Amino acid sequence: MDKGWTRKPLDNISVISMPRPHIVDYRDIHPDGYVLIWKPEHPNAKKNGYIYEHRYKMAEHLQRPLKENEHVHHINGNKQDNRIENLLLVDSQHEHNIAHDPDLANPNHSREYKRKWRLDNKERLRERERQWKRQYRALRNFFGLPRV
Ligand SMILES: [Zn+2]
Repeated sequence: MDKGWTRKPLDNISVISMPRPHIVDYRDIHPDGYVLIWKPEHPNAKKNGYIYEHRYKMAEHLQRPLKENEHVHHINGNKQDNRIENLLLVDSQHEHNIAHDPDLANPNHSREYKRKWRLDNKERLRERERQWKRQYRALRNFFGLPRV
């Protein structure tokens, strides 16, 4: 763990494409556009010690950790606008999908439409994750970074 990592809070967000806590201080932006902050002690932090800032803010607001099923949506669509008034707590992936496409809640939509929407979305997320991992693997080899 300790490779002489330097971490200090930054006011400015540094745009770096993946978690590199030993280089990046405190905040980072995930390639998916969300702000990550370094909070390894937080119950909602990922294994690599980062937590999405919007999830962190919501947990602070609720004064409890978020549950597995809970998602936090950015009302104005700006993934980096993590003011509490821009955040909406939703109970499930389905509700979150509706937040992105209220048309999904339309009872007249066929099951098929909803199924396809979910699959497309899943595939998008997967592809992003794959890209990120590829990039990170390359960087890791080059800079000798830790596994995340
Ligand atoms: Zn959302």
